[in-house]
Amino acid sequence: MATDTTDLNMDAPSDLQDIPDSDIQLLPPPEATYPDKTSLLAAVHAHGKAHGYRVVVKSSSTPNDQKPGRTSKVWLRCDRGGQYRPRNGLTEETRKRRRTSRLTDCPFSLLAAGTPGFWTLTITDPRHNHGPVIERPKVIPPKLKKGQIAAQPYDWPHDATFTPFTTALVIIDMQKDFCAPGGYLEFQGHDISATRAIVPKLQRLLQSFRSAGFAIYHTREGHRPDLSTLSSRENYRSHNNSSALGIGSPGPLGRLLIRGEVGHDTIDELYPLPGEPVIDKPGRGAFAHTDFELILRNKGIKNLLLTGVTTDVCVSTTMREANDRGFDCVVVEDACAATEPSLHSSTLDSIKMEGGIFGSVTTINDVMQALENFKTVTVKKLAPQMAAQMSA
Ligand SMILES: [Zn+2]
Repeated sequence: MATDTTDLNMDAPSDLQDIPDSDIQLLPPPEATYPDKTSLLAAVHAHGKAHGYRVVVKSSSTPNDQKPGRTSKVWLRCDRGGQYRPRNGLTEETRKRRRTSRLTDCPFSLLAAGTPGFWTLTITDPRHNHGPVIERPKVIPPKLKKGQIAAQPYDWPHDATFTPFTTALVIIDMQKDFCAPGGYLEFQGHDISATRAIVPKLQRLLQSFRSAGFAIYHTREGHRPDLSTLSSRENYRSHNNSSALGIGSPGPLGRLLIRGEVGHDTIDELYPLPGEPVIDKPGRGAFAHTDFELILRNKGIKNLLLTGVTTDVCVSTTMREANDRGFDCVVVEDACAATEPSLHSSTLDSIKMEGGIFGSVTTINDVMQALENFKTVTVKKLAPQMAAQMSA
């Protein structure tokens, strides 16, 4: 070996310390012989994969009629090697391709040469100029139609019309009486931790729908102060608990479930903006004895995303009412809560029966994903100026 004495620096620390681990790991395959080209290439690919790089075929030659004595050859390189060599000089296009190409100039190269039955692998350059390439598992995106949210048992809405012109977010009964200490729900003997837990998630959802320009409706359950909307059965039922307090009884947040009282109003975190209709309902469903259906029909809304409390009572009742009126509904399961986990899950189960008897069930993440798709695909095409506003 030729030695260049000027290059000998005896004071330098051991060379081995200067070699990063990554270079050590990128071992070239052993120089060996193989019965055929296929097995050689398979061995080389497998070795490269195991050591953090990918071997690709650079070029090859095979014997033909003119040159029958020629050996078959395959030149191989690292997929981080190679360069774009423009035929007509460096145009702007080739400069751009160089800049954006993932090709670097890894010098690693191999030569396979052979005749039938005997193939030899030779390493022409064992060096790589990069660390091991980590293979990330490929995430297969679910096949979703444009304008749909991934949901169970069917992607929603069934006719792929997830747009602000046809779809609304409905936030059900996120009132202090159900979500704050001293409210109606506590006097019914229930813990409010479950209804409180969804508040930050709902804030996120609400913000996204607002910024994407969707219609948003808030509902509140409650009665007229003179109790003229309260049936005797409902009055009896609501007092049928250990506190003996029910609808209309005085509480720390005012009379329980009475319109105009502090406890009856929406919690501050999710308070409606001007222009977001509030539906005051005397019962569980948002359609019975309200103008909700009229408001939705006038606006052309036919798909409802249902969220809020409680899953098994007001959310479920509203979903059933809407379903019978021809609306396509989806419940966002982690944006709803019940006083008991079993009531929450059994309600979701019943929705999914018979191909989605009351609608479909989705999650906040799936909704967010669909909103992103909507923003990037639909809005850009339909209204570029709207897309600019959204990203601002
Ligand atoms: Zn390489």
